Amino acid sequence: MEETKTKVLIIGSGPAGCTAGIYASRANLKPILFEGEQPGGQLTQTTDIENFPGYPNGVQGMQMMNELRDQAVRFGTDIKSRSIVKVDFSKRPFRCEDDHGDVYMAETVIISTGASAKYLGLADETKYQGLGVSACATCDGFFYRNRNVAVVGGGDTACEEALYLSTLAKKVYMIVRKDYLRASNVMQKRVMERENIEILFRCNTVGLFGEDGVEGAKLVRDKGTDHEELLDIAIDGFFLAIGHKPNTDIFKEYLEMDELGYIKTNEPHTSTNVEGVFAAGDCADPIYRQAITSAGTGCRAALDAEHFLMDHNEL
Ligand code: NDP
Repeated sequence: MEETKTKVLIIGSGPAGCTAGIYASRANLKPILFEGEQPGGQLTQTTDIENFPGYPNGVQGMQMMNELRDQAVRFGTDIKSRSIVKVDFSKRPFRCEDDHGDVYMAETVIISTGASAKYLGLADETKYQGLGVSACATCDGFFYRNRNVAVVGGGDTACEEALYLSTLAKKVYMIVRKDYLRASNVMQKRVMERENIEILFRCNTVGLFGEDGVEGAKLVRDKGTDHEELLDIAIDGFFLAIGHKPNTDIFKEYLEMDELGYIKTNEPHTSTNVEGVFAAGDCADPIYRQAITSAGTGCRAALDAEHFLMDHNEL
């Protein structure tokens, strides 16, 4: 087991983590950044990004994240292809342990661990993962050209995914548990007007079936009522779009969070209830969750960490 000291330790490598890395390394704080299990974060699962300023013709998610990473490395961010699996925020310096058992004693920590897509919790989702089950239409939609697919959820994400898939697939079912869509009016209208999208209201998925991959889903309509009805739909792809969960479990013991697990920060700063620990990006943002807002809070977190070190005469 090795023990390393650092002034700034950044956990996560999405737009927030990389931007924190750029700012902290330019301030000569020699940050160490842990990429985690999904280097580059959620954007590496996207195809075109059209709303990040500075790319008038759009940019591929993977390309943008590679460039952000390169920019952080250019100024001296030490990027580790590992995950932090355990922290002790009870006193400073903070003890952070990685998945190889190595320990880092950090004067400040910037948490930018992002969020992950939620699943229904069915055993079949695991069984058919990569064999028809996906939580990213833009990543996997291509494989379902002229096939039938289903999207679970009735929010803006589900509508967006369904609309995208409807340009590729023959038919798109939306599986919605209530008798209405939660999505914004404009998205609802677009979905309703698309001929090859069929919305199955009041339906819950109870299982998937198929030989070597997904061939269909088993649904229950009006579950728990006296007119409960079973129906099977023939599909090749099953897409989850039921929201996201912040990746904050390992910090629960120390940090204040809302009921969904988003870390609470002292707006307009990125500081948390533990002095010297800052949070940026989707893990602390239940509202906006955009690449650009994440990058913005990553910048703020690095500046907040720098000021904190200065105030404690540790620079
Ligand atoms: P939401 O929380 O808005 O919607 C989640 C959907 O999934 C709801 O329809 C919900 O059903 C359903 N759901 C949740 N859990 C289950 C379950 N276990 N089984 C079946 N269905 C389930 O999440 P989104 O990701 O859609 O959106 C998050 C935020 O991001 C929103 O504020 C949204 O407006 C925003 N956004 C905006 C976009 C845009 O403007 N273009 C694009 C994407 C997101 P129920 O309604 O019954 O709870």
